Amino acid sequence: MVEAALAAGLAAFVLSYTFSLSLERRVGRLRAFADGEAGQRQIEREKAAEDELGVLARALDGMAARLGGLAERAKVGGAQRESILATMVEGVLAVDAKLRVTFSNRSFAEAVGAQHPIRDGTPLPEVVRGPSLSELLTEVLREGEPQERRIGLVLAGEERVFVVQAAPLGTPAGPGAIAVLYDITPLERLERVRRDFVANVSHELRTPLTAIRGYAETLLEGGLEDAENSRRFVEIIKTHAIRLGNITSDLLTLSELESGAASSPSERVSVQAVVDSSMRTVTTAARLAGVRLVRGEIEEAEVLGSRTHMEQVLVNLLDNAVKFNRSDGEVHIETRREPDGNVTIAVSDTGVGIPSEVQSRIFERFYRVDKARSREAGGTGLGLSIVKHIVERMNGSVIVESDLGRGSKFTVTLPRCS
Ligand code: ADP
Repeated sequence: MVEAALAAGLAAFVLSYTFSLSLERRVGRLRAFADGEAGQRQIEREKAAEDELGVLARALDGMAARLGGLAERAKVGGAQRESILATMVEGVLAVDAKLRVTFSNRSFAEAVGAQHPIRDGTPLPEVVRGPSLSELLTEVLREGEPQERRIGLVLAGEERVFVVQAAPLGTPAGPGAIAVLYDITPLERLERVRRDFVANVSHELRTPLTAIRGYAETLLEGGLEDAENSRRFVEIIKTHAIRLGNITSDLLTLSELESGAASSPSERVSVQAVVDSSMRTVTTAARLAGVRLVRGEIEEAEVLGSRTHMEQVLVNLLDNAVKFNRSDGEVHIETRREPDGNVTIAVSDTGVGIPSEVQSRIFERFYRVDKARSREAGGTGLGLSIVKHIVERMNGSVIVESDLGRGSKFTVTLPRCS
């Protein structure tokens, strides 16, 4: 009896021991799977089991699949974000609470003249000289509010202007801030050119308008009775009115050229015909100034463009060559078919010449070497900028060579179509 009970007890012990051993092994397998240490093959057997551990194994497997999907999506999303940030033209910079760089893209490195990539952890003041960006980010970190500011950075001796948008950035590693930098230097430059231009135009218009008003008032206040002077005053008024007319028509031409509105149909234009008609236009002015117009060798060629524009180019060059000449001087024009498919038109004079240091500036709007002389001669300071515009629109170029006190030579090169 006792033996039977002992035997049964032993059997129960052996059975429960082996059962608990196998249970421990199976739980161990599930834990290894959950920890990522066991593979799919090991879990498959457990999933097939009908008991509670089987249910748990199937639930674990489902969860693993969902987590895997999420991780994959996060990785793809992260890579997408990285590549978007990397290819952005705007500079992007992230810093931690101590202003150490935690992220920066290539555009940022280029904007601040730093080597790309900027090592994470580099203190911002080591990357960007000048306090403006650090101050902005410190403020954003302190206030916890986004801010926008325009800051200037000097790079390679040149001032560049940026609009910076900065915002606080909470990361698992702690608070930080992010900044996006837009380089608005070209816009600023354009804006300055526009402002200068408006100021120049106003200034140019004011002088003749003041003169016209002054002389008109003098006439009204008794000048009309003075027959000799009144004629002179009216002539002065007329001269200034003509100047106003010249300025406005030159401005109109320039603005049409710039807006592209003057893209009058391209035609084949005979260089010889344009030389002849332009010479006729300036004949009277040359005679009055005592300057001889010499038609040198004219090699015929045709160019593609607008005849009116071509005439404007040559009349402006010839007119300048007469205006800035000496009396008894000479203006010479010649054209040549070049073997490279171009035609060159050269206008040279024996005039005052242009100092070498300003030769590149004479094509700027309103630039004049001798303002008084130009004004006196009815110049607007816009002639050469119109010439340059037209020639460049025709895919050509214009250059100047000049010897101070001896004369100048302007050469226009244009592609010929015959
Ligand atoms: P404008 O002749 O109306 O003054 P331009 O734009 O045609 O304006 O010329 C700009 C300046 O370039 C002139 O004011 C003058 O100082 C200089 N310039 C142009 N052509 C000549 C030339 N042939 N000889 C000397 N100076 C010239």
